[in-house]
Amino acid sequence: MPAGLFELTGQTALVTGSSRGLGRAMAEGLADAGAAIVLNGTDPDRLAAAAGGMRGRGFIAHEACFDVTDEAAVAAAFARLDGDGIAVDILVNNAGIQWRQPMVDLATADWRRVMETNLTSAFVVGREAARRMIPRGRGKIVNVGSLMSELARATIAPYTVAKGGIKMLTRAMAAEWAQHGIQANAIGPGYMLTDMNQALVDDPAFDAWVKGRTPSRRWGRPEELIGASVFLASAASDYVNGQIIYVDGGMLAVL
Ligand code: NDP
Repeated sequence: MPAGLFELTGQTALVTGSSRGLGRAMAEGLADAGAAIVLNGTDPDRLAAAAGGMRGRGFIAHEACFDVTDEAAVAAAFARLDGDGIAVDILVNNAGIQWRQPMVDLATADWRRVMETNLTSAFVVGREAARRMIPRGRGKIVNVGSLMSELARATIAPYTVAKGGIKMLTRAMAAEWAQHGIQANAIGPGYMLTDMNQALVDDPAFDAWVKGRTPSRRWGRPEELIGASVFLASAASDYVNGQIIYVDGGMLAVL
């Protein structure tokens, strides 16, 4: 294997929603591969704690506290990074929320909130990043999809639609930006052990369903996304574009 294929030293990665959960695990993995990290979330204390933890391990961790659904705040955050001389070489569009409710009871405002947070944000943050990557002639965008990029499940309609949209947004980004040296790909995690799923983990019936339905017979651990994220952020994936890699213990492969 050529040396340095997965090396990220000298690169800076902005990971949205990286104060905890999958985003934090991917941020730490990218840092381990050499990247400086811009951490993001909406809660300043949680963000400061995550950044402090990373700095304590010797990593470079900047904090960018903004809401990915607030277009003006996104633009202001990129302007601040520009002002500080920080160029985002790698963007991981990870911030997301879940909202469980049958569609007949679902308020339009809740539909819109999930779409804004899980799909429109990836376009808005991706656009800001790409506007800066295009003149440089290179960049890596990693969007976070889900099993719900392929499959539906009752009570999570807006999440399913948003994650299906992430798959096609990834292809749209590749279609427009590949010619500028940008690779846009996605990761589709299976059922992972994070705060978002705590209620499901605590429900014995759901826990048994996940373990029975997943060929690996277990939930995924957040750090199990590191391999795919480093691959898609590094030179190892320079001719990979518009793809979604499922990290799901084999769940999508079986009925
Ligand atoms: P968590 O709820 O554990 O963490 C979510 C992160 O996103 C937090 O850092 C949170 O920070 C941040 N966040 C939420 N809303 C916003 C916002 N509007 N602006 C900025 N940051 C925000 O979620 P997970 O780690 O489980 O999920 C991360 C991603 O992975 C999501 O896109 C999710 O859909 C996806 N995913 C998760 C799976 C799983 O099994 N856990 C499976 C498949 C996909 P703060 O609270 O401080 O704002």
